[in-house]
Amino acid sequence: MSATATPVGAQAPQYVFVDHLSAPAALSSPVESGAATVRSGINAGSLERDVRVLAAPEMRGRLRATDDNARARLYLIDRLRGAGMAPLFDGSYEQATYAERADAAGGRSDAPGARHGTNVGAIFRAEDAAAEWIALVAHYDHLGVLNGAVHAGADDNASSVALVLAIADSLGRSRPRLRRHVVVLFPDAEEPPDIRTDRMGSSWFWRHPPLPATRLHLAIVLDLMGGRASPEMAAAGLANALFVLGAEASRELADLTRALPPTDGVVPVFLSLPMIEAMPYVPHRRFARSDYHGLREHLGRPFVFLSTGRTETYHTARDTPDTLDYAKLARVTAWVAGLAAQAADTGGALPWRDFVADPVADARSLLRMSAAVETSARFGWPLRRALAADRRTVEALLRRWEAGEAPTSESYRTLQLASTRLQAAQWRPSGWYFARW
Ligand SMILES: [Zn+2]
Repeated sequence: MSATATPVGAQAPQYVFVDHLSAPAALSSPVESGAATVRSGINAGSLERDVRVLAAPEMRGRLRATDDNARARLYLIDRLRGAGMAPLFDGSYEQATYAERADAAGGRSDAPGARHGTNVGAIFRAEDAAAEWIALVAHYDHLGVLNGAVHAGADDNASSVALVLAIADSLGRSRPRLRRHVVVLFPDAEEPPDIRTDRMGSSWFWRHPPLPATRLHLAIVLDLMGGRASPEMAAAGLANALFVLGAEASRELADLTRALPPTDGVVPVFLSLPMIEAMPYVPHRRFARSDYHGLREHLGRPFVFLSTGRTETYHTARDTPDTLDYAKLARVTAWVAGLAAQAADTGGALPWRDFVADPVADARSLLRMSAAVETSARFGWPLRRALAADRRTVEALLRRWEAGEAPTSESYRTLQLASTRLQAAQWRPSGWYFARW
């Protein structure tokens, strides 16, 4: 745990500012043969097929606690068994999850309430049973049928599930000797209204892990991995961007993710987590975006969150298999396989602390991402003007910080809100309300 407790009340989170991402990167780490095998064993042919099954109209959006969700789960278990992955939970690929009840003192009780969801998990074991473990995490549930329209959830999150299945296939085929166990986890109940609560399937998992929590070396959490880049990102040279969040938590974690050998057609863009967790008008809260929520709150073990970002189809009925960029998904899968294998086979302990940010790295990434917003034909002029003003503000902040001035909570909050507006604009380019506060 960090020395800074979780903020309560109206206090803004106090971040410790670091240079783990902005300092010159460590040299590329040598690739172990096991890691190289996992990476070269990826068969991209399964990616589109898996997305098309999971996001088919008959799956009806895989809503938690429905028959549709159960059908998706059977498919996953079948795929994991076929890949040669062992069941994770006492001989079963399934873990029932429960809605935990608060006890009388306001704390949490482990006494199960009603059955809430079902996680799916499998493991590729290292030789040493007591070895540490890494986890690849991609939620499989989605929004189901809303107002009569199937929300298929192709990008959210069949894309990441397919990616992890491709890595499972590679592990099962090549059976490398790795120093650490590799767990693949498909949590249930990630979507609203469960997101950021203990009802999340992943929150239950992190509180009831099948392997010792203290032996968790790294979790790699994936959400939205198959979307096409926005025109603004493409114009800024970031059509192949892969956002890497959370690596700022320690020098060792930053080095692991930054020293990976380059993958053709993948441009890692590093951001501190607070850059995607701020909302206007709610300065005292941070909004976890995916299955790392419970891990961060309950376990405090190292993790990174990977995403290619929200697109215009996010959480709409238009998030269908034909909108995805499968060639990019294949390239990104190779990158993630490289990271997973490297984490499973090399390096010592990865220290981790909460409430950390690298403002200089964040400002640099934000300026790269917003390089083409002023010429975007999608944005109306008020939004373009607001984004351009943000850009000038971020440039000025970066100049001051690079000149040695220390970032403050206030100046970093300004950066976070500029980041929030840019993300909101790309998700709702017509100028949705919170893109124009
Ligand atoms: Zn979602």
